[in-house]
Amino acid sequence: MKILFNVGRLLDATGAPVRENMSVLVEDGRITQIGAQGTIEAAGATVIDEPNKTLMPGLIDLHFHHFLLLLSPIGGAYDVSTSTDELIATKIFKGANAAKVWLQSGVTTVRDAGAGQFLAVAIKEAIRDGYTPGARVIASGPLIAQTGGFRPGSGGHGVEVTGVDEARREARLHLKAGVDVVKIYGASTIGGGGGRLISDPGWTQFTVEEMRAIVEEAHKPKRLTSCHTGSEQSIKNAVLAGVDFIDHATFMDQECIDMLLETNTPIVPTQAIAWSLEKYGVKMGFGAHIARVSGEVSEKSMKCLADAYRQGVRIGAGTDADNPHASLAKECELLVEIGMSNMEAVLAATKSAAEILRLDRDIGTVEVGKLADLILLDKDPAQDIRNLTTVSRIFQSGKEVVLPLYDLTSFYEKVN
Ligand SMILES: [Zn+2]
Repeated sequence: MKILFNVGRLLDATGAPVRENMSVLVEDGRITQIGAQGTIEAAGATVIDEPNKTLMPGLIDLHFHHFLLLLSPIGGAYDVSTSTDELIATKIFKGANAAKVWLQSGVTTVRDAGAGQFLAVAIKEAIRDGYTPGARVIASGPLIAQTGGFRPGSGGHGVEVTGVDEARREARLHLKAGVDVVKIYGASTIGGGGGRLISDPGWTQFTVEEMRAIVEEAHKPKRLTSCHTGSEQSIKNAVLAGVDFIDHATFMDQECIDMLLETNTPIVPTQAIAWSLEKYGVKMGFGAHIARVSGEVSEKSMKCLADAYRQGVRIGAGTDADNPHASLAKECELLVEIGMSNMEAVLAATKSAAEILRLDRDIGTVEVGKLADLILLDKDPAQDIRNLTTVSRIFQSGKEVVLPLYDLTSFYEKVN
């Protein structure tokens, strides 16, 4: 099966500038030739002529949740039901729905950053085997948290352990269940804790030794680890434990930045979720205090992130969402706000993201040999990062996704 794309602009996400009037040949799901239009011999190929569109690799969201904050695109209703008494089957239908929404926004690979009952592994396999449409999923299990460290009433989203042995045992169970990235919960949420235990946002949890045991286990079968962090110390602990990448990295001091640079550890800052909670939190059904705290945290966190970026810390794009207010396009827009060029922000959601997941042999750029996870946009994001919201056609391993699954225009209008 051959497809020849003739496109107005090619943004290959290698870091090279956008090239005009290019062709890309795809054979059996992989890219086999790239060249100026008219230079590729492609007898028998299906030709896709898009002289006004920009072709680029599918986006990669490094921090998504299919089964958390659920927003139904049907009728635009919000649904923040994460309650424990929701039927598991209901949760699964909603998760499949979230997968479609994210795919339609141009995300062809997501890392599900954790869900109870290994639901992220379940949806990964369901999508892979063609039961329901969605991006390729890189799955985490329930968040491994310290005893008493996880907020109650979250439907098994976290599992609590004490000590090196229990941490090690839990990691082994996650690997057995098919987890790709073992997720460690190294700090409280921005809310500051659960039950009656409320403290500063993102206070430190776990000892370095407990986290190191999890990392050791994950690395044996060559799986990755990530750590939910908030405070400066929680980031330092995660780096000391040898975690592969850092989720949120909300507050960073100079020592944090130095440690991240020394160890070449990437961060996935997830600014879009705080932005969306500040702006739409009350409308979405959260308390006014969540909206307020999100605003405060976001302001300080954006400054830390700008510092880290200027000094060269590796940064990948993630949303921590499944609500389109916190789209990956929005995350990239916020990365431009902290100083990245449009192209650098695009790379954070493509090439760099693929490298962080160690999938850069297969995805993340438009290069010969890579899988044809491709998107066509009406407008060029290298000109204006907000053009990432203009995705019009999506291909997964060379196969076109039938669109539209949903009408997302109203969400994007709100986002912009
Ligand atoms: Zn998350």
